[in-house]
Amino acid sequence: MPLRLYNTMSRQIEDFVPVREGEAGLYCCGPTVYNFAHIGNLRTYIFEDLLHRTLVHDGYKLTHVMNITDVGHLTGDGDEGEDKMVKSAREKGMSVWDIAAFYTDAFFADEKDLNIIRPDIVCKATDHIQQMIDIIRKLEEGGHTYVAGGNVYFSIDTIDDYGKLAKLNLDDLREGARIAVDSNKRNPKDFVLWFTNSKFKDQVMVWPSPWGVGYPGWHIECSAMSSEYLGPHFDIHCGGIDAIPVHHTNEIAQSEAAFGIKPWVNYWCHGEFLLNDKGKMSKSSGEFLTLSVLKEKDYDPLDYRYFCLTGHYRSQLKFSFESLDQARSARQTLMRKLAEYRAEGPADFNFSEKAASYLKAFFDAMDNDLKVPQALSQLWTALRDSQVSNAEKLGLALKMDEILGLSLDREESASAETADSQALSLLEQRTAAKKEKNWALADELRSQIQALGYKVIDTAQGSSLEKL
Ligand code: AMP
Ligand code: ZN
Repeated sequence: MPLRLYNTMSRQIEDFVPVREGEAGLYCCGPTVYNFAHIGNLRTYIFEDLLHRTLVHDGYKLTHVMNITDVGHLTGDGDEGEDKMVKSAREKGMSVWDIAAFYTDAFFADEKDLNIIRPDIVCKATDHIQQMIDIIRKLEEGGHTYVAGGNVYFSIDTIDDYGKLAKLNLDDLREGARIAVDSNKRNPKDFVLWFTNSKFKDQVMVWPSPWGVGYPGWHIECSAMSSEYLGPHFDIHCGGIDAIPVHHTNEIAQSEAAFGIKPWVNYWCHGEFLLNDKGKMSKSSGEFLTLSVLKEKDYDPLDYRYFCLTGHYRSQLKFSFESLDQARSARQTLMRKLAEYRAEGPADFNFSEKAASYLKAFFDAMDNDLKVPQALSQLWTALRDSQVSNAEKLGLALKMDEILGLSLDREESASAETADSQALSLLEQRTAAKKEKNWALADELRSQIQALGYKVIDTAQGSSLEKL
């Protein structure tokens, strides 16, 4: 089956046909490094990692580029507010450069913990100022810009298809339903390419430019860095869905105007949100969880990765600790089973027809717009199939792990012990529940114990555990 991806531009699942045969260029908007990534951000990077792994598995020579936003991302998407980096530096009493270095390192530590493969090229906005200036110059030459109040703006009325990704209704916009916060804007949807009249006196990240000393708007960096490393026309651009209406819309407008190539990017792929009780997990709401918090609570980062694999990237996923516990139980059961097979002997990769059919179904599910929950269920069904030998099961798991990224080859004594102690603790709770004649809770606890791979044996002397 060829790789098929949902393209936000067409709102359809399409066959993936690369610009250059056998190659794939992938650009993913990276973190704004003013704070720790929350686990919602990390969900998006896990989705992009699944795409990366699938492209590589399918034999494409992949170039995966991710930027680090260390300047120009304001607290408001419509050029209002102040630079997130400057705000964070002031609040924490550190320099913007130290803030950027600190949170970039923290981000990559999280990525490593989650087995996210590092993109081939990781590039910082502050290292690509000249490339941004070059693109703004081209836009200026093409008549797409104006200077007002000291800033350089992109004029969306100079192109005829602004907003096509988000399917924005421009008539509504022009009717003035939305008043621009920035009175310099001719159209409320115009956006800043370069701030020369720095509205923030604290801005220390400034560079000389043909328009005066200043700093770039947020969107221009992704056009500059993607074209620097992937050329002015490439295959896939990813990000979270919140990037569609403003950030990606503006990236498209300026890139197509500057490079004269339409479409600039062939496939737009967006990851849906991770939700908490209050809706989208977000940094600005202040209520967000980091991977470090999960680790402090004794979760393995791969429990969170497993949790993310239980949902399709285009569906919202609701986070709760109960769901994370279920993911942990499932992952530990998986690891324990594989440890048992490993103890019996080496993996067999000479798959029987039956075993091979599971592998095919697994990769078909991934090629079908990264349907990872279906792919994962192939693994579980194979493990339950008595016609597949344990050595083959181990072989299947290891092959599938090239996509899943769950470190299924890891020696799991520690995890098995955790599963043991977890099951024993649940058994104690169940004994207490039975004493209190809370049969519903006792049944629920028995199910949880079973999910860890143990059977409860009740005798007149008490209850004990037996491995399933
Ligand atoms: P930021 O560091 O704020 O620029 O965000 C990094 C990435 O995480 C972007 O691609 C966002 O679209 C994405 N993102 C933000 N919030 C969430 C969320 N709650 N769930 C999933 N992805 C998110
Ligand atoms: Zn971007």
